[in-house]
Amino acid sequence: MTSATLSTDDIYAEWRKRAWLLGGLIIALDIMLIALSMLIAQQFRRRLAMEEHLRLMVNTDGLTGIGSRRALDEAAGIEWRRAWRNQQPLSLLMIDVDHFKRFNDRYGHAGGDDALAAVARCIADNIRRPGDYAARYGGEEFAVLLPNTGVDGAIAVAEKIRSAVESLAIPNAGSADQVLTVSIGVATTEGRARFANLRVFFNASDEALYKAKASGRNRVAITADEGQRRQVHSAAQEG
Ligand code: GH3
Ligand code: MG
Ligand code: MG
Repeated sequence: MTSATLSTDDIYAEWRKRAWLLGGLIIALDIMLIALSMLIAQQFRRRLAMEEHLRLMVNTDGLTGIGSRRALDEAAGIEWRRAWRNQQPLSLLMIDVDHFKRFNDRYGHAGGDDALAAVARCIADNIRRPGDYAARYGGEEFAVLLPNTGVDGAIAVAEKIRSAVESLAIPNAGSADQVLTVSIGVATTEGRARFANLRVFFNASDEALYKAKASGRNRVAITADEGQRRQVHSAAQEG
């Protein structure tokens, strides 16, 4: 009887030992699994942060902190399609610093860089609507996209920017105004087939910018056909 009891205890003792061992192993495995998933989650978060950082870097102009040319191209494509879909106006301002070569020659390239950053801040401070987008187009040229904004609204924003830059009163002895100024070309689509594609739209704002330069700089100009349309419109209103 006693020997039979002992042998049952022995059997259970062996079983218990194995059960504890197996249980311990399972717990250790669980801990390892938890640690591993925590590590994977941490790596995943790091990767997301890195991707976000890279995205920001690519979409931001290093010198001025506003949008980059690449980001502008992307935003312009999106807004162009949206304007067509919703039959809403879309305006584009092309902004170029006047006599900037003379500025650089006189005040140095570093002074020129500071001035570009100041102009960019001025542009960003004067666009308020969500969806408005400012970017450095290249060199001393900037572009602003104004979704759902007709020609009058666009001229008003352009004029605000032009006068704000003039008010910065950054000396530019090489310019007729003696201060740093910008010329701005405005192009607007009104949801009609005015421009064949985005490139033609950008060319139109360039053409308007050229007009602003040719007529004396430090001013805002619209495209020639927009000017004609406005003349016809106001003549019809008077008549
Ligand atoms: P306009 O009034 O006709 O626009 O004359 P402009 O002198 O501004 O035009 P131009 O195209 O002759 O010269 C542009 C100058 O802008 C030349 C270039 O050295 C300067 N520039 C372009 N990018 C930068 C930049 O990132 N930093 C600095 N400091 N200067 C730049
Ligand atoms: Mg230029
Ligand atoms: Mg210039």
